This record gives sequence, C-alpha cells and structure tokens, in this order.
Amino acid sequence: MPLAVTPRPDGAHTWSGTDVVLGAAARDERVEIADRCLCLRVVLDGGTVTGVVVKDLTTGAERDIAARAVVVAADALRTPQLLHASGVRPAALGRYLNDQPQIVHAVRLPDEVVAAHRAVTGRTRDEDGAIVPQSGVSWVPYTDAQPFHGQVMQLDASPVPLADGAGTEPGAVVGLGWFCAKDVNADDRVEFTDGATDAYGLPDMRIHYRYTDDDLATIEEAKKAVTEAGAALGIPLGDAPVLLPAGSSLHYQGTTRMGPVDDGTSVCDSHSRVWGTRGLWVAGNNVIPTATACNPTLTSVALAVRGARALLAHLAPATGRTPVSPA
Ligand SMILES: Cc1cc2nc3c(=O)[nH]c(=O)nc-3n(C[C@H](O)[C@H](O)[C@H](O)COP(=O)(O)OP(=O)(O)OC[C@H]3O[C@@H](n4cnc5c(N)ncnc54)[C@H](O)[C@@H]3O)c2cc1C
Repeated sequence: MPLAVTPRPDGAHTWSGTDVVLGAAARDERVEIADRCLCLRVVLDGGTVTGVVVKDLTTGAERDIAARAVVVAADALRTPQLLHASGVRPAALGRYLNDQPQIVHAVRLPDEVVAAHRAVTGRTRDEDGAIVPQSGVSWVPYTDAQPFHGQVMQLDASPVPLADGAGTEPGAVVGLGWFCAKDVNADDRVEFTDGATDAYGLPDMRIHYRYTDDDLATIEEAKKAVTEAGAALGIPLGDAPVLLPAGSSLHYQGTTRMGPVDDGTSVCDSHSRVWGTRGLWVAGNNVIPTATACNPTLTSVALAVRGARALLAHLAPATGRTPVSPA
C-alpha cells in the first residue's frame, strides 16, 4: 500500500513499488533495495544511531548495516515494535493508538438511475467490472457538527460478486462507508512484553483498545447519517448499517506520534526525530499526532516530506549537499 497504479494503453495496470517511489535513485548503483529482509533492530551507541541489523528471509543470514541515520517506517504497529526491540522506549511509545470507527452500508440504485448511468457512460451490462472515468468515490465532508466523513463508492468495478445469489447487478450497487474520528487516549495502545516474541522473533504485541462514551455517541450519529444517505440514494441492502470491528478501517495511527516538546506524550519532534536520540527518524501513520477521519496516507506523506528535509540537513555535512532548512 498505497494503491498507486498507472493504467497502460492496453488496459492493464502497473502497480507502484519502491522502485517507482524512488524513481531514478532506485537505479543508482549506490542504492540497494533489500527486499525480503526483516529488520530486527536499530543499533544505537549512547543514543546515537550506528546502524541496523537485518535478517535475509531467504537465507536466514543476519547482517549489520552501518548508518548515520535510520528511518523506521514499519506501520503503526510495527514501528513501535522495532523501537521497543531496539531499546528505544519513550513513555508514549505504542500509546495513542487510534483507528477510525467505520460504518458500512450498501444500497441498490433504482432501475431508472442505472439505465441513465449506462446512457451517460455508453456502457453495456457486459462491461460492468471495467474501470471507466465515471467510476470512483464521492465524499461527504467532515464537519464539527458531524465528526465523520463519508464515502459513496460505485462498486461497478468490483471484481467480487456483491450479493451472492441475490441477482444484484454489480453496476447497480453503491457502497457507503462512513469513517469517524476516534476519541484519542493514551490507554489505547499496543503493548510489548519482554521475552515473548511473535512469528518473526520480534516482541509480541497485545492491543488495548476501547470506545469511549463520546465514540459510541459519534458512532450512533454516523449510523443515522449513513441510513439517511442510503435512503436518499436507493433501496437498502440488509437491515441496517454495520459497524465494522475496531481496526477494520486499516487507518490505524498515532503510536509514535509527533509533538512540540518532549513531555512524555509524544515519541518524536515535529520533524519526526525520535526524542532523546540522534540520527533516528520515524515515518508513516504512526507519526500522525491527532485523530483523523479520512484516508491518512497523504497526511503521512506530507509529514514524511517535512521529516526528510531535516534528515537531509543532518546528512549534509558528509554528502556535500546543500543543507535544507528543517523549518
Ligand atoms: C486494502 C487497503 C486499502 C487502502 N486504501 C487506502 C486509500 O485509498 N487511501 C489511503 O490513504 N489509505 C489506504 N489504505 C491505508 C494505507 O495502506 C495506509 O495508510 C498506509 O499504507 C500506511 O503507511 P505506513 O507507512 O504507515 O505503513 P505501510 O504502508 O504498511 O508500510 C510498512 C512497511 O513496513 C514493512 N515492515 C514492517 N515491519 C518490518 C520489519 N521488521 N522489517 C522490514 N520491514 C518491515 C511492512 O512490510 C510494510 O511494507 C488502505 C489499506 C488497505 C489494506
């Protein structure tokens, strides 16, 4: 993830990978993309980063890689896991975990709407499943009065049968997904236990997570909003909107969050530098300091760009590159 894709003239797709993100740098002979490698820990000497230890998952061999700077960007559960494994354990590590409570619903559009859609797109029933310019998502914006954001999704491009045996045409079904902002708490956290390890040999995780009364009230409001939107669009499928299990939005974040001062409520500064260390950065959804109710990747990218400028300044004396002001 994320789901960046470039359509080719023949209709096939080229999916983005690390090589696409790095561009020409990926082909620089000094750059190595160590795929199939698991990072086991970051190595520090007196708070200063000296490198990482990685394990080649094909051979099982471990190797040390020396580095003057390390960026840990291993997602909002495994970034704190790696820091914990490395002995970097600020008080806020793993805390403030938050994911967006997500409510889903689906409606079948009236026949005349489907017919009108086909008239506009010029498509036949046989072409359902192909992505056309009209395929996409319409957004219902977040407001203070309604602290959630909605996505109305045309499901005509879904390769998955939508209503088994119900005879529902994919092109006629619209999905609704409403994402709520979570009430952020330090107690919501991923906890690691020394001595217990997961299948990769890294510290085992235990998740502590609950909805507050405010969360439950927001969820009820969001359910009402989804019901109203669904009724306005067509005929509901199923009895009522469904709250997915916590964590289902896949937008979990906050576990190495940034903050303005090292007061125990954050793991890194506003340039993503881990407090109390030198040469150690974090990136990804884990850095986002507040609740969000939208797809978070672009926010993480923006914060990473800001952090990268500070990283470049850190490396500048040795690379000879012009330092970029972290401001
Ligand atoms: C089906 C799906 C659809 C989504 N759609 C959207 C969307 O439309 N918009 C949006 O904004 N977001 C979307 N998301 C969420 C999006 O994927 C995340 O917001 C984003 O990927 C988070 O970035 P990240 O860097 O925090 O973590 P990740 O992208 O998960 O990157 C972490 C990387 O670290 C690697 N890693 C972890 N531990 C180690 C280790 N010890 N050693 C080596 N490597 C390690 C992992 O393999 C992974 O490659 C979607 C997610 C899913 C699953």
